[in-house]
Amino acid sequence: MAHCGTLFIISSPSGAGKSSLIRALLERPSADGKLQVSVSHTTRAERPGEEDGIHYHFIDQPEFKALIKRGAFYEWAEVFDNYYGTSREWIDEQLAKGIDILLDIDWQGARQIREQSPSAKSIFILPPSRIELERRLNARQQDSAAVIKGRMDKAVSEMSHYDEYDYLLVNDDFDQALNRLSAIIEAERANTDKQAIRYQNLLSGLLAE
Ligand code: GDP
Ligand code: ADP
Ligand code: 5GP
Repeated sequence: MAHCGTLFIISSPSGAGKSSLIRALLERPSADGKLQVSVSHTTRAERPGEEDGIHYHFIDQPEFKALIKRGAFYEWAEVFDNYYGTSREWIDEQLAKGIDILLDIDWQGARQIREQSPSAKSIFILPPSRIELERRLNARQQDSAAVIKGRMDKAVSEMSHYDEYDYLLVNDDFDQALNRLSAIIEAERANTDKQAIRYQNLLSGLLAE
């Protein structure tokens, strides 16, 4: 299928700020429908303020396993004792329309996507310090103390995969991190092979004898 959208994988330890950065990126006028985030399926419990179909598709384990069997997932992984997965159909439709897709997924999912889509670009986000990471997990006020402790314990192993990614960002000053993330996406949009598909008509007009 001729498509020119790019898959962007974004990973970080929980609490480093990827959801906030993705939300802010989509609100920028430059996103303008050309950039969308994939809504994952998960078996984890809905947090206060989350909405089914917007933040995640919340499903139970039997439903999740049925989707795995049907081959509905591009990738799936068990993270923090819950299942998370990216559905294939919607993503392929968007890419075919030339829309770029952001995937907020963990390192296990990132590996599976790279194997299937080598042209995907991946970005890892680091917190400025361990103390600040813990502060952000607490400041979010959405997880219990036990869940936060579990996420802090997993943070080091998640961060140890940073070198599998194409780009590495530190989310210290939020606006600076947002600008850098946006710059990565804009640069990929200007990739010659992709622009040649997008601007097929313009190019044939400009190059006509
Ligand atoms: P957050 O880290 O605070 O954003 O917590 P979430 O509950 O939203 O995500 C839990 C973990 O699952 C994170 O490591 C995500 O990167 C990962 N994750 C989320 N969606 C997906 C997905 O579709 N596929 C895979 N493989 N991992 C995902
Ligand atoms: P993730 O999706 O990676 O788990 P979130 O986007 O939910 O992380 O961010 C975790 C918390 O940290 C949120 O309360 C968010 O408002 C805050 N946060 C995100 N980025 C920054 C930043 N650069 N400086 C201070 N706080 C931040
Ligand atoms: P949270 O439970 O805080 O929403 O997410 C925890 C972690 O799960 C995050 O690091 C997030 O990136 C990851 N995650 C969310 N959805 C998916 C998914 O569909 N696949 C994978 N592999 N990871 C996901």
